[in-house]
Amino acid sequence: MKILSVNAGSSSLKFQMYEMPDEEVLISGVFERIGMEGSCYTIKLNGEKIEKTASLPDHKSAFELLVKELIDNKIVDSLDDIAGIGHRIVQGGSYFDKSVIASEDVIDKIDELSTLAPLHNPAAIIGIRAAQAVVPGAVQTVVFDTAFHQTIPEENYLYALPYEWSNDYKIRRYGAHGTSHKYITMKMNEILDREDTKLITCHIGNGASISAVLNGKCLNTSMGLTPNAGLIMGTRCGDIDATIVPYMMETLKLTASEMDTILNKKSGLLGISGVSSDSRDIEAGIKEGNKRCELAQKMYVRRIVDYIAKYYVELGGCDAIVFTAGVGENSVSVRRQVIEALDVLGVKLDVEKNEIRGKVQKISTNDSSIKVYVIPTDEELMIARDTLELINS
Ligand code: ADP
Repeated sequence: MKILSVNAGSSSLKFQMYEMPDEEVLISGVFERIGMEGSCYTIKLNGEKIEKTASLPDHKSAFELLVKELIDNKIVDSLDDIAGIGHRIVQGGSYFDKSVIASEDVIDKIDELSTLAPLHNPAAIIGIRAAQAVVPGAVQTVVFDTAFHQTIPEENYLYALPYEWSNDYKIRRYGAHGTSHKYITMKMNEILDREDTKLITCHIGNGASISAVLNGKCLNTSMGLTPNAGLIMGTRCGDIDATIVPYMMETLKLTASEMDTILNKKSGLLGISGVSSDSRDIEAGIKEGNKRCELAQKMYVRRIVDYIAKYYVELGGCDAIVFTAGVGENSVSVRRQVIEALDVLGVKLDVEKNEIRGKVQKISTNDSSIKVYVIPTDEELMIARDTLELINS
């Protein structure tokens, strides 16, 4: 059965097609600059990467072209071969604790939640509508980034703000990257060969979050109402003293939207280093003796360590710490610095085993008090699995 995983942004459409239940990737790619000048797309097929330009006035035209490529490349014989299309949704609020079929009622709720994810939810709906128009026979499903975090207890998801705000304005922790944290949890439990585990899953990419997972269920996570909470990220500040916001708005006469841009786009590694949001550039800067790059990485690592320590206590111990996403899968030096700082807990890094990128590997020594793993994440596969399950049910 052929299933498409789709991630629609305001001007982009990422896709990956699977043969299920074999979980074999048949083709993947991305359409970019949709609705803009110079639109283009990239397709990966048989280990080859093909780049093309095309006129893409809207997401529907991108879907039409996607289907044409699937047929031209003999991935499918006709539209009828596409059994399901799973869409990634950033914000599912308190409505959704699992993936569901994209009914009209579900789409209305995703739309209602757009106020909490103004850049993402409306784009995802455009993607669903385009898929429905071009492939009407496929089962359309929605997979939420927030769903895995719906098991977080009230004392962890509430902010210490006026209590009514959580009901009247939906102000609470929803978290993000849930699909990734769930995938990593399943993989790690498979490796440990049991379900009753205490895990700390570290999704450290450009956006970054850490979760505490008890017996396969999320107990706490570092992202909040929005992704700008918890860790220091590429351009996001993560946790700060909230009163800095009104203070600097008054001082610099900033509007709410200007302040939001600074907190989300001009802070984090970029804000501190003044060089880049990309950890590779920060590492290069450190090698060249750039002090602010050094400071940025120190702060970045410190915050990760703080969250691991906090969740260690909250979980009452930990069986495994897992690193994933761009930095977590690739940065030997960030992983090393984090694990070295956890020495007090008896966590020990196998320095040689840590010299890997992008593959499943245990990187702790055999006498480490907590196992440490690198596990590459696969959010697209989770979307395909959930879609298959919904089709079969
Ligand atoms: P997102 O999905 O949040 O955009 P990713 O998970 O793709 O982010 O991570 C992207 C980040 O991963 C880059 O900004 C970069 O900082 C980091 N990264 C990627 N490759 C490497 C590498 N080889 N060494 C260090 N960091 C890397």
